[in-house]
Amino acid sequence: MDLEEIAKLVRSCTKCNLWKSRTNAVPGEGPSNAKIIFIGEAPGENEDLEGRPFVGAAGKLLTKLIEEILGLKRNEVFITNVVKCRPPNNRDPTEEEILACSPYLDSQIEVIKPKIIVTLGKHSTSYIFSKASITFTSISKVRGKWYVWKKGEGVEIKVFPTYHPAAALYNPSLRKVLEEDFRKIRSEIRKENSKGYTIEYFLGVQNRLRDKGEEGNSNGGK
Ligand code: SF4
Repeated sequence: MDLEEIAKLVRSCTKCNLWKSRTNAVPGEGPSNAKIIFIGEAPGENEDLEGRPFVGAAGKLLTKLIEEILGLKRNEVFITNVVKCRPPNNRDPTEEEILACSPYLDSQIEVIKPKIIVTLGKHSTSYIFSKASITFTSISKVRGKWYVWKKGEGVEIKVFPTYHPAAALYNPSLRKVLEEDFRKIRSEIRKENSKGYTIEYFLGVQNRLRDKGEEGNSNGGK
């Protein structure tokens, strides 16, 4: 199965009640060879209308963090949610909805085989932690640190939880924490660059950071 086939299944899915109130399902977007997956909770109003993830105010902040701190283009990473249809009035997704929908996320991770997963907020963090057999306490306690998901024989994914950008919109002090967390992600990307990334990818990131005048600041604000 490829990403488009997964997206088709999501768009026609009726496995939980959220299909009844959706305008569009939101499978996620990004390349199948993305090195990083960002996982949020569920689509909001704008995402439901457009059928694309993170296109509202929180999405604008996420895009800014990806571009300005990580030095990546938004279309170089894969962005999705644990739950692919909007819960009414943006309520939290239920356990049942997460259980019904998460196999699509599992399949996307299988196809993409990312080096890094960034979980945004408690729902995606708690889901990925459960897959990785890591104890989840609260997002404020576990955020900002690296964890390893030993996914199988010789397959390890680095997992980095942070706050959902929507939380930073309503709480400016969290915005600084989110930016600090993204600088930690940037440091890790640079380490990965020096290992397994292609030279073209490495040069692309370095050039974009140089254009922003950030090259050489290799401690990433840690
Ligand atoms: Fe299907 Fe997920 Fe949408 Fe529920 S939220 S209808 S499981 S795609």
